[in-house]
Amino acid sequence: LEFLQKLPKAELHAHLNGSIPFPVLQQLANEFQAQSGADALPDAVRASLDRLRHGVVLNEIHDFFGLFPAIYAITSTPAVLRRATRAVLDFFLAEGKDGHPQAAYLELRSTPRETPAMTRRQYIETVLDELEQYPPERAALIVSLDRRMDYRTAAECIECAVSLKKEGRRVVGVDLCGDPTAGNMDEFAEHFRAAKAAGLGVTLHIAETPDCPSPETLRLLSYKPDRLGHATFLDAAAKKIVHTDEMCIEICLSSNLLCKTVPTLDAHHLRYYLGHDHPVAICTDDILPFRNSLLGEYALLMAPPPIGLGLTEAEIEKIAKMGMESRFR
Ligand code: IMP
Repeated sequence: LEFLQKLPKAELHAHLNGSIPFPVLQQLANEFQAQSGADALPDAVRASLDRLRHGVVLNEIHDFFGLFPAIYAITSTPAVLRRATRAVLDFFLAEGKDGHPQAAYLELRSTPRETPAMTRRQYIETVLDELEQYPPERAALIVSLDRRMDYRTAAECIECAVSLKKEGRRVVGVDLCGDPTAGNMDEFAEHFRAAKAAGLGVTLHIAETPDCPSPETLRLLSYKPDRLGHATFLDAAAKKIVHTDEMCIEICLSSNLLCKTVPTLDAHHLRYYLGHDHPVAICTDDILPFRNSLLGEYALLMAPPPIGLGLTEAEIEKIAKMGMESRFR
């Protein structure tokens, strides 16, 4: 375990609102209720909080997206967003009881949300205000576009990301996330072109479920992303492009198992990429619903089968190095 604790690890795929430690979210929900009246939280929000408290059981990936409206109901003001961000940063970057942080470096991602209390730009600035408390070599932000965003909203997010980067704020990339079956991906071409032209890294959630159509996957690859989230169901044509362009695959083992997109660790596509000496980064995705940690994900690499993949220390060291080398800064 000490070997894994000491190993410098990069966390490159963590969604802010999916990474709030549950006790912090509960505290924020209690305060929300105390300030707004006992019935302030709708029943659906309370039900989702209960699911998160007891550990969620997901029958399929769409069960998972239903959890976010409850989290969003709570993290909708700059003050609360600030505290949630701080808790996520501390979870990954503060020294743990073992004397080591979970991650040497964190690229946190989040979807800018407009609420009655803040604009999308204020959302990003609030997250950056907290993130920039850590030194540049430890933390940076990726601005996520949700697949359901309309053209104008996505354009606004990209404009904010680009202008904040120009102002010297710590935005290093953009992401495409959200329900893998939603949205028209043809509409996003211009956004990713603009992001790349401004020197931002691009990472895309891609082929996350078996029903993601192959033409859409090829279309997303034509945007020349630097990294890919999940990439679970790539066909031979897509794999060829991914290998040629050496796109790093962000691997989220627990997330894939719990969302049931991968049946067992042994069947995980990580094995394929390791076998082809292709760059990967081991990541957590959403520690709030999955109750995982970066150290835990690395422990899965090391533990003997069937619990883990039984990799050697040398192999794990190499994987951690690939993660560090795939950073956007
Ligand atoms: P946020 O962007 O900080 O609000 O983090 C939560 C959001 O991340 C969710 O609403 C989803 O859109 C997105 N997300 C989290 N996990 C996944 C995933 O595994 N696949 C696609 N999108 C995800």
